[in-house]
Amino acid sequence: MSEYQVNDNGYYGNFGGAYIPEMLYPNVEELRQQYLAIIQSGDFQREFDRLLRDYVGRPSPLYPAARLSERYGANIFLKREDLNHTGAHKINNTIGQILLAERLGKKRIIAETGAGQHGVATATVCALKGLQCVVYMGAIDIERQAPNVARMKMMGAEVVAANSGSKTLKDATNEALRDWINNPVDTHYIIGSVVGPHPYPDMVARFQSVISAETRKQLLEKTGRETPNYAVACVGGGSNAAGMFYHFLDEPSVKLVAVEAAGRGIHSGESAATTVLGREGVLHGSRSILMQTADGQVIEPYSISAGLDYPGIGPQHAWLHKTGRATYAAITDDEAMQAGLLLTRLEGIIPAIESAHALAQLEKMAFKGDENVVVCLSGRGDKDLDNYMKYFGF
Ligand SMILES: *Cc1c(COP(=O)(O)O)cnc(C)c1O
Repeated sequence: MSEYQVNDNGYYGNFGGAYIPEMLYPNVEELRQQYLAIIQSGDFQREFDRLLRDYVGRPSPLYPAARLSERYGANIFLKREDLNHTGAHKINNTIGQILLAERLGKKRIIAETGAGQHGVATATVCALKGLQCVVYMGAIDIERQAPNVARMKMMGAEVVAANSGSKTLKDATNEALRDWINNPVDTHYIIGSVVGPHPYPDMVARFQSVISAETRKQLLEKTGRETPNYAVACVGGGSNAAGMFYHFLDEPSVKLVAVEAAGRGIHSGESAATTVLGREGVLHGSRSILMQTADGQVIEPYSISAGLDYPGIGPQHAWLHKTGRATYAAITDDEAMQAGLLLTRLEGIIPAIESAHALAQLEKMAFKGDENVVVCLSGRGDKDLDNYMKYFGF
């Protein structure tokens, strides 16, 4: 049993657990008792593998980026999650959770979404399986993210506006939790990252671990070794990073680098650099590190990339940070945008601005020449074209 994986009590070191209202206990407990048996069953694994292959398009390529490698003086490999159906890694998790929901006999799916990416990935698998789908979204986010709202509606999902508080992600999360309390029997709540009460962080990490499982095989073919010198990934809640790190956690020779969003600067007051600015506390049902005021109010995060705009990190990341197993870095909006343009110009790949944060970290690393570096390219940049155009004035 790895010291970096969840223990029998649902904790990573002193992080994790299930800090939930009593009314939610039956739902979370049902999941906790059943998730491992279900996802380890042959029937589940066969269907999961089949859908990842035939529907998502896996394995995603491990692309040796020649011109990027030349620039940085190391062998840079990009794990191409941007080529997945719906354009990012999020679909790996929603496929896993919809199969789980089916096996739990659930007929109705709820989710919360901020920028709409997780909402789209959820609406997609609900259409695939013919299950009812309700996505909660802050009223302000609904206005800001019209194309994703349209995608969800086209898939047949109902998009419900959260009109309380700041009308953004945390308010949508509250509405989704209220819904789940009121519909404990027929409804499954699909959480979109390695956050929330146990068993969500472990469950989501297992679904995303396909990223590092494939990477090991592909590296062996391409370099003769299953492990890289570095694995680099961006962190909002931390699911693509958790998937990229999963099968390397107990390989001390692999340096794990997680990249958070520093927004307009770590100390600008507009940032999402949780490991620098945060303190230990409870957020969305688990004990972790989060950005909070002296009296414990959650601080609104900021990043130019909607997917990294989250005030905490998942409990496993809090533990990897505390133990020093992974290094946590922070990249500003400007650095990320430049890295996004650089990849586009050097390799002809427009990355999601989230993924561009991971790429920007390469500028700050010193390589010894022949080292192998895997960067998780978590998503494609189509959704960010407006942002790129405005930023660069094209
Ligand atoms: C949502 C998203 C992220 C951030 O989520 P994690 O759970 O931290 O992986 C990163 N990249 C892309 C492309 C996203 O859509």
